[in-house]
Amino acid sequence: MGILVVGTVAFDAIETPFGKTDKIIGGAATYIGLSASYFTKKIDLVSVVGDDFPQETVKMLQGKGVNMEGLQVMKGQKTFFWSGLYHNDMNTRDTLVTELNVLADFNPVVPASAQEDEFVMLGNLTPVVQEKVLAQMKNRPKLVVLDTMNFWMDVALEDLKRVLKKVDVLAVNDAEARQLSGEYSLPRAAQKILAMGPKYLIIKKGEHGALLFNKEQVFYAPALPLEDVFDPTGAGDTFAGGFIGYIASTKDVSFENMKRAIIYGSAMASFCVEKFGTERLLNLTQKEVEGRVQQFVDLVQFDIDLV
Ligand code: AMP
Repeated sequence: MGILVVGTVAFDAIETPFGKTDKIIGGAATYIGLSASYFTKKIDLVSVVGDDFPQETVKMLQGKGVNMEGLQVMKGQKTFFWSGLYHNDMNTRDTLVTELNVLADFNPVVPASAQEDEFVMLGNLTPVVQEKVLAQMKNRPKLVVLDTMNFWMDVALEDLKRVLKKVDVLAVNDAEARQLSGEYSLPRAAQKILAMGPKYLIIKKGEHGALLFNKEQVFYAPALPLEDVFDPTGAGDTFAGGFIGYIASTKDVSFENMKRAIIYGSAMASFCVEKFGTERLLNLTQKEVEGRVQQFVDLVQFDIDLV
């Protein structure tokens, strides 16, 4: 039932039309772990930080039920740092800085207690590291989900393509799906990407929702029209955490259940963007989460009598 999560644990500096932050806590694995913690209590995180990373954040994640045994702390080295600037539409951003720091020589070690986890979330980071994590699993997990970004398509495309052959679900945004496939049409891009290995493809479209493809079917989930989007950083990871968290809690990897998982992922992501960084994910209640999911249901439910 456990979920193994690998990804960055990072410092981010973010600028949006609503404001600017100094270094705050971020990283794909941080968002995934927090989001998934609302669904299941066996989460094992594998990542790396420098000794500049605050111990209280490690404790906070442990408090949420995330096992941090697989977090390596490198003495005298610096934590991964990313800085981004969002445009007015909040759907597009420029990466200003990516300092790999500890990530450059990261050799992941999956603790024995996590090697039999049935669900694996390969969060955004070096494809070779994602592959090394997968290789340490004792059995073929029930579901392997991979998230990645344009950065890795630019610098490690061949490695990424190799890992793609070993995963069940790929989650990328629309621009990344187009870059990876060389196709502008998303249904065409999807078929090309599915031919590269994954059985399912999720294409995230920011405020325009998300699409789920397999070779025969497609499902569309909207995003909630929110009055204020403060900071989209981590929305994709939060989505992924909710998606795999829901699947792990139901143990059902069918297409039908993935549809529900996408709604849960979208609901979690809608919270994430309401505040800067991870803030909004820290103290949600189960009632709030269910209330959000209900809003999604209401948003798309309609009756038509066809003659
Ligand atoms: P998202 O907004 O879902 O794409 O995720 C943003 C998070 O990804 C930030 O907290 C960053 O620390 C992290 N991030 C940014 N660039 C990279 C990268 N090249 N590899 C891994 N993680 C990254």
